[in-house]
Amino acid sequence: MVNFTIAQLREHMGNRHNIRNMSVIAHVDHGKSTLTDALVQKAGIIGQQQAGDVRIMDTRQDEQERGITIKSTGISLYYEFELAGKRDGYLINIIDSPGHVDFSSEVTAAIRVTDGGLVVVDCVEGVSVQTETVLRQALTERVRPVLMMNKIDRVLLELKSDSEEAYQKFQRVIEDINVLIATYHDETLGEMEINPVQGNVVFGSGLHQFGFTLRRFAAFYSSKFGIPAEVLVKKLWGDNFFNPKTKKWQKTDTDEDGKKLKRGFVQYIMDPLYVIFGAIMDDNREKLDKILNQMDIKITQEQRAYKERQLVKAVMQNWIPAADALLEVIILNLPSPVDSQKYRVETLYTGPMDDPCANAIRNCDPDGPLMLYVSKMVPADKTRFNAFGRVFSGTVRTGMKVRMQGPNFLHGKKEDLYIKPIQRVVLYMGRKFEAVDDVPCGNTCCLVGVDQYLTKSGTITDYEDAYNIATMKFSVSPVVRVAVEPKSMADLPKLVEGLKRLAKSDPLCVISTSDSGEHVIAGAGELHLEICLKDLQDDFMGGTQVKVSDPVVQFCETVTKTSSQTALAKSPNKHNRIYMEAEPLDDELVEEIEKGYINPEKDAKEMGKDLVNKYNWDPTDSRKIWCFGPDGKGPNLVVDKSKAVQYLDECKDSFEQAFAWASSKGALCDETMRGIRFNVMDATLHPDTIHRGAAQMVPPIRSCYFASELFASPAILEPVFLAEITSPQDAVGGIYSCLNKRRGQVVSEEPRIGTPLVQVKAYLPVMESFGFTADLRAHTSGQAFPQCVFDHWQEMSGDVFDESSKPNGVVKSIRKRKGLPEAIPKGDQFVDRL
Ligand code: GDP
Ligand code: MG
Repeated sequence: MVNFTIAQLREHMGNRHNIRNMSVIAHVDHGKSTLTDALVQKAGIIGQQQAGDVRIMDTRQDEQERGITIKSTGISLYYEFELAGKRDGYLINIIDSPGHVDFSSEVTAAIRVTDGGLVVVDCVEGVSVQTETVLRQALTERVRPVLMMNKIDRVLLELKSDSEEAYQKFQRVIEDINVLIATYHDETLGEMEINPVQGNVVFGSGLHQFGFTLRRFAAFYSSKFGIPAEVLVKKLWGDNFFNPKTKKWQKTDTDEDGKKLKRGFVQYIMDPLYVIFGAIMDDNREKLDKILNQMDIKITQEQRAYKERQLVKAVMQNWIPAADALLEVIILNLPSPVDSQKYRVETLYTGPMDDPCANAIRNCDPDGPLMLYVSKMVPADKTRFNAFGRVFSGTVRTGMKVRMQGPNFLHGKKEDLYIKPIQRVVLYMGRKFEAVDDVPCGNTCCLVGVDQYLTKSGTITDYEDAYNIATMKFSVSPVVRVAVEPKSMADLPKLVEGLKRLAKSDPLCVISTSDSGEHVIAGAGELHLEICLKDLQDDFMGGTQVKVSDPVVQFCETVTKTSSQTALAKSPNKHNRIYMEAEPLDDELVEEIEKGYINPEKDAKEMGKDLVNKYNWDPTDSRKIWCFGPDGKGPNLVVDKSKAVQYLDECKDSFEQAFAWASSKGALCDETMRGIRFNVMDATLHPDTIHRGAAQMVPPIRSCYFASELFASPAILEPVFLAEITSPQDAVGGIYSCLNKRRGQVVSEEPRIGTPLVQVKAYLPVMESFGFTADLRAHTSGQAFPQCVFDHWQEMSGDVFDESSKPNGVVKSIRKRKGLPEAIPKGDQFVDRL
């Protein structure tokens, strides 16, 4: 039973003003997937009774079993909606995304391709960690939020709190969200406040499939009161109390005789709900009939025979269906692509703001150059992936020849660029794909055949001079790794192929091979890795099992002082000499580089100014940064401090090459460097280029990087999670004892107002986090639930060269694991004598 055809959908894709692209975002378990069912059901894809139970967007078997969403899923739906007496068709592209922090990269990918976010909050639990994280991401991407105050059936059935308490709970959630919105206020987007009176809040229950806005009730009561709905709606929220004696609305909650009055929201909305729920649960048919009649609610003869929750659902679904309220809020409050792209273009496009691509994105022009951003790959069958993304300008057609620009593509260069035809354009419909000829801008779609060229994400365009659409920034980092190997060597090719597919299917995970041939998978945390490994074996290797190492943590190498001596190294032919020193980079500068604010593509003059003013750099040095590393953009720098050395400029390539190598595998234990600045102090070079080719230059330069690192009091940085743990008050003791055992540091402990819960925030070294969830559950009788997200890098205290120190042990065990000689090298081993 489908209410619309693909042809109808396609037709509406051209009606740009009537499109809404929306992600559903929330903390895990707050009810996103259940709610999305309500919308899918309304569009006619699943039956009315099933809605709320199927979770059609949880397409994977493990998602259905675990009851959590792991991958984000897209679906395009068509609805008719009446606005100001006019019926019109709307196309809504919805993405349901996972709520667990380990999968936040999926959320990032979802937010990128949508213009609005339906923020779902469990009204009993309130605004949680992940609600904040995803909302923050949405706001920085200029995605406009609306609110679903979800699970209000819990207030009515479980908590039995009174109507006024319920109001206070709702008010608190709205305030919490508005605090965040105010923090990220962005002038260009205009008013963003969440306010029931403005009509951007739905109150309801995904499970029972009902929902309402204040407008809905204002319209209902308007004739009773003889007040226009627009006026009445303002009385239904905030401090507005109806005084039956004076028959007037007033701002205070007591009448002239000192009698307590009820606020509008309580008296006219919550109380009738309580009566209905109460009458049904007590099976008081007389009372029920009376209120059904009063509120003008109709149910069928068949539904009359229902009892308890089933009857609740039938009554509420008939009366105030969730989908209607959601559609109203989505259509009226979220921007169409035409509206949103006007302001999103600045944060999306990396090229000049007046080139044809920028203009076409700004105007959402279907006839302009094609600009499409691929945000993730979704499995199409056992071997292939479809590239899912958003058309920001132009129209993408089956068969058209395009430029596929990966994240490392630079304007005017040829790296990470493929010019190929698009095999097919398809629509993403939850559990299946539907072929179409073309898709115009303002919509999401999938492309077949792109997965051969783009790994995870990228820009697709038909305009030769196009710059990339900005690469997504993730709020999580792949700091936990496992090494995998096949159980039998015959399966090695299968493993290699499987890893390639895994790298595609997940927006975040990083696959690499170490020098010793070890295959390594890096992910955000234990759960993320567990899912990656499951996908790898079950889906990408056809059930072949692999041997998995214990999880290991990524560390970084850094320095804490300026090198105690200048490092000197000679080329093998002895004709060239390099002199170098290392020193630590400012912490804040390192972060700015990691966030991409300071990058090698930035205008040299502007960057120089920043370095001088903000970080007290010497003005001459600030203009002589040679390279960033690793990957040409990492948080380590090479600066030329030499004076008038002949031919040095001609050797720059060798310095870059050696740096790419050294900065990704440092001298201590082959881990990535972080926060080191290398200064080239001096050099003597042979006049003849033939004597200073890469083979002569790269080895001594690398030795110099290593020696200067080792001379500069090197240290190990370990990743630290911010763990946020919610639990009942009486379980807090268990949390503290768990944290103590694991070098955890409590940052804050706060009661969650309106609930019997407390929230503990603590720093937890990633290396101590394995098994933390299980341990915590054991210590708190299963009552505490943690979410860990990478927060920062922290120096491990102690001298790495001191045999009795903790970092010394860590470095040695890493060396051992990697098959390196156990002794930590000293700077002297890398230097030559004059
Ligand atoms: P998600 O993790 O945000 O996608 O949440 P799900 O939709 O998977 O729902 C999580 C759990 O909450 C499931 O057990 C649902 O049955 C339950 N749930 C969802 N919506 C409601 C609701 O409106 N009321 C109540 N009481 N439970 C709900
Ligand atoms: Mg879900």
